[in-house]
Amino acid sequence: MRWQGQQVGATDPDALPGLESLGGLVRSVTTPEFAGMTFHEVLAKSALNHVPGPSAMPFDWTVNPYRGCSHACVYCFARRTHEYLDFDSGADFDREIVVKTNVAEVLRRELARPSWAREHVALGTNTDPYQRAEGRYRLMPDIIEALADSGTPFSVLTKGTLLRRDLPALAAAASVVDVDVSMSIAISHDALRESLEPGAPTFRARVETIRAASEAGFRPMVFLMPILPHLTDDAAIIDDALRQLKEAGARRVVFGALHLRPGAKEWFWQWLERERPDLLPLYRGLYPGASVSAPVGYRKLLSARVRPLLRRHGLTGGAEDDAPAPRASRLMPVRATASAPAPAMLF
Ligand code: SF4
Repeated sequence: MRWQGQQVGATDPDALPGLESLGGLVRSVTTPEFAGMTFHEVLAKSALNHVPGPSAMPFDWTVNPYRGCSHACVYCFARRTHEYLDFDSGADFDREIVVKTNVAEVLRRELARPSWAREHVALGTNTDPYQRAEGRYRLMPDIIEALADSGTPFSVLTKGTLLRRDLPALAAAASVVDVDVSMSIAISHDALRESLEPGAPTFRARVETIRAASEAGFRPMVFLMPILPHLTDDAAIIDDALRQLKEAGARRVVFGALHLRPGAKEWFWQWLERERPDLLPLYRGLYPGASVSAPVGYRKLLSARVRPLLRRHGLTGGAEDDAPAPRASRLMPVRATASAPAPAMLF
């Protein structure tokens, strides 16, 4: 298993089949409160990840306390990263969650190095730091404290309403370093959201989280994406979502059409076959073969539809196509207090 080198610790006799062969390297935990899920607790050797190569994104460093994500978004293109752990990119991604239990402690050590230049650190670039596991493990408060204590500016992007728990800690951190808070919201229709993001909070709960962040002094940004052709791209639906976001205190909205990367594409195709076979020909036309992005024509049409709505609601922002090119992961937040360039959300 490729993550073997990152772990030490004791073996749980109840480990999943296959994992027990790692001998002394992993503890796997199941609990009644998280039925169907297994947490694989690991002791990470490193916490700060350097984004390799020249980056078009306004961050070079990330911290990811979890691998896999119980929000289980069908379209999530972090799915393939689970294959590096010898899990599959489908159901395993949703319920086999790797937890770096010592991430804050390791991070604190790394941030204390004389060589650390206090560059911006992005949280939420691969999997969601406020997914359900965070309710059990509470890794984020110590991560926030470590970053603030070291004078490191950071940003958090999430779909998780658990963010509310840490707003006081985030606000305290924001008194000493720049802290940015962003929320990812793709689908306002409840039944469709439940089908495509079965483990994620409702649209209403996320809107209320934006409101809470706003009341805590942040000016939250929203990634209204991925917009799904012929499922969520109706002007009236987007208009209503923007109205609610604005009313809750959102400052800036970046929108973009669905990307279907390998790993996510197969999974999304299965969803279409099961739930909306009528749309299969249309989607095969929009995303033929190995293509990842919707055609330029569609993206222009979407842009022409959404931009006037942003203006109508007094929101800044724009299309992800206006932002720096996507890198490799999923998404990123934007500065809450400054006019940083709009980031690309990567799914
Ligand atoms: S898109 Fe984000 S919230 Fe959804 S499953 Fe992927 S990492 Fe989790």
